Amino acid sequence: MTDELFQRPENIDKVFGILEELWGNEAKNPDLGHEEPLDGLILTLLSQNTNDTNRDRGFEALKTAYPEWDAAAAATKEEIADCIRVAGLANTKSERMLLILEKVRETFGLYSLKGLKEWSDEDARAYLGALPGIGAKTAACVMLFDLDKSAFPVDTHIARFCRRMEWASEKTAPEHMQSLLEAWVPRERFLGGHINIIEHGRNLCSARKPRCGKCPLAGLCPYFTKTGAL
Ligand code: SF4
Repeated sequence: MTDELFQRPENIDKVFGILEELWGNEAKNPDLGHEEPLDGLILTLLSQNTNDTNRDRGFEALKTAYPEWDAAAAATKEEIADCIRVAGLANTKSERMLLILEKVRETFGLYSLKGLKEWSDEDARAYLGALPGIGAKTAACVMLFDLDKSAFPVDTHIARFCRRMEWASEKTAPEHMQSLLEAWVPRERFLGGHINIIEHGRNLCSARKPRCGKCPLAGLCPYFTKTGAL
């Protein structure tokens, strides 16, 4: 891996353009955020190590039992864990959730993260990243989806795609890819571009068997050039 690979890739605008032609999420500009950013944060916490369906079921059970965060904060760890069990790692997630709620209340005086909208991108990112159990990806998701702030979360699909395009190496950590993409990609493409790559990863550029023969990026893709995968 040389430093050269960390320079802005010459093909990045073209690749984002082709992905947009293919999946169209920049034009759709979907509103995936929550009225209350704390909902987005807790939902993302629940998504760790599980699939979207079980994450959503856990969140729904939680909100049914505790429609307001004040009520959830007053519950015991065991009660929260029982509620969210379907989302997995219930004991860890319930413990972190209660710690997060406590910290949010301490900072804002209520169980809400709406106040973060007034903070700078840098301060909001540092605050979210310092919450218990919240890593760079979760913080970036809340920033992008719920706070309309500048962040390009890197999940497993995006990390794989960046490696296959050789925009980063096998050793590059997702947090590092995130800062590279944030520097390289125009801000207005963050939301749609992020979703486009995920859709590409789910439908064509899958982990085990990428369908390069059907991919309009094949001519720009070093992985295809090297493997000739069809
Ligand atoms: S050509 Fe293959 S490896 Fe490259 S982006 Fe397309 S599906 Fe992924």
